[in-house]
Amino acid sequence: MRVAQRASIVAEELERCFPNPRVPLDHSSAFTLLIAVMLSARCTDERVNKVTPALFRVAPTAQELAKMEPVEVRPYIATCGLADSKALHLVQTARILTERFHGQVPQSFEELESLPGVGHKTASVVMNQAFGHPAFPVDTHIFRLARRWGLSHGSTVERVEADLKRIFPMQSWGELHLRLILWGRTYCTARGCKPPCAICSRLKV
Ligand code: SF4
Repeated sequence: MRVAQRASIVAEELERCFPNPRVPLDHSSAFTLLIAVMLSARCTDERVNKVTPALFRVAPTAQELAKMEPVEVRPYIATCGLADSKALHLVQTARILTERFHGQVPQSFEELESLPGVGHKTASVVMNQAFGHPAFPVDTHIFRLARRWGLSHGSTVERVEADLKRIFPMQSWGELHLRLILWGRTYCTARGCKPPCAICSRLKV
């Protein structure tokens, strides 16, 4: 089966299952989305959504967060894992945004990826979900599913991202990213199916 045919089956099944996928991290601005995505590294979105309301009450903007010390931020995010480095990166990022970007989140991959603790995946999520730029962030679920379904044989996140961007139309990247994550979390985990669905049989894998 050709890759284009596989992609069409996957897109169809995902859309049927999750017609209106919502952004899982609660936020009210590009800044709060950036902070939430940074906190989500090696942590569940549910956990992040539990801690951000209190953090955003004391630091709703880059300027407010920049005034805090990492040791003051840490208690708010203690349950998210990697709390010391995350607290440091959040404060460093807020200070750079305040000093170099008038407190705003920059709208370029290069500038976003220059911020402490912000890698390509985080930048892609912010570029897409905050600013509507085409991006296809590849997380652990998407990496696994793309390979399982024969959409990519890449052994790196970069290669899988490039393959997915080539296979799917640019205007579908944002929703597809959300649907793939929902699919991976809900039905198709690293441990197996819960329960089996139609995709593997339709793809003959
Ligand atoms: S059949 Fe199982 S492994 Fe295949 S896509 Fe569905 S949930 Fe995933």
